[in-house]
Amino acid sequence: MNSNNTLTQLLSDYRGSIIKKEGLKMDNCIFCKIAAKEIPGKVVYENDTCIAFLDLSQTTNGHTLVIPKEHYDSFLEADAEVMAHCMKVAQKLANKIVENMHAKGCNILTNAKEVAGQTVHHFHIHIIPRYEENDPIKIEFTDRSSVVNLDDIYNEIMK
Ligand code: 5GP
Ligand code: ZN
Repeated sequence: MNSNNTLTQLLSDYRGSIIKKEGLKMDNCIFCKIAAKEIPGKVVYENDTCIAFLDLSQTTNGHTLVIPKEHYDSFLEADAEVMAHCMKVAQKLANKIVENMHAKGCNILTNAKEVAGQTVHHFHIHIIPRYEENDPIKIEFTDRSSVVNLDDIYNEIMK
């Protein structure tokens, strides 16, 4: 190994150890900054892997976000174990929020990519407590069963 290769290897090992210790932090990611306490957030839960804080918008009272401390762009890229852990935390927290806020239920949702409404590109799970059907949130499932061919769609997914 020449000295250039050695240096490259050393730098790579160093970067690897930083990522292991501190998680991969993305510059200019608002949620990485909240996780690192560089900007404030109303943190309602935290452990080594994830952190949960109140969503600024408060779509309904108690609207909370659960995020991994490590940066993943969206649900589609997130490490499966980290994501499973975040989901476990989201369930515990959702029960606590629903109970303490006297909600009747909640929506759990994650938007992946802009086309799906993702505006902050750090994987997060929304906990949105629900108080009544007319809460100011709209998630509508349109019935398109009469205009699509289920077999075609099935075959396309399974190919
Ligand atoms: P998305 O649209 O990506 O699924 O959700 C992003 C959410 O992050 C939005 O509901 C938005 O209100 C929330 N949000 C954006 N910036 C901040 C911030 O700086 N602090 C907090 N607490 N929430 C934020
Ligand atoms: Zn991030």
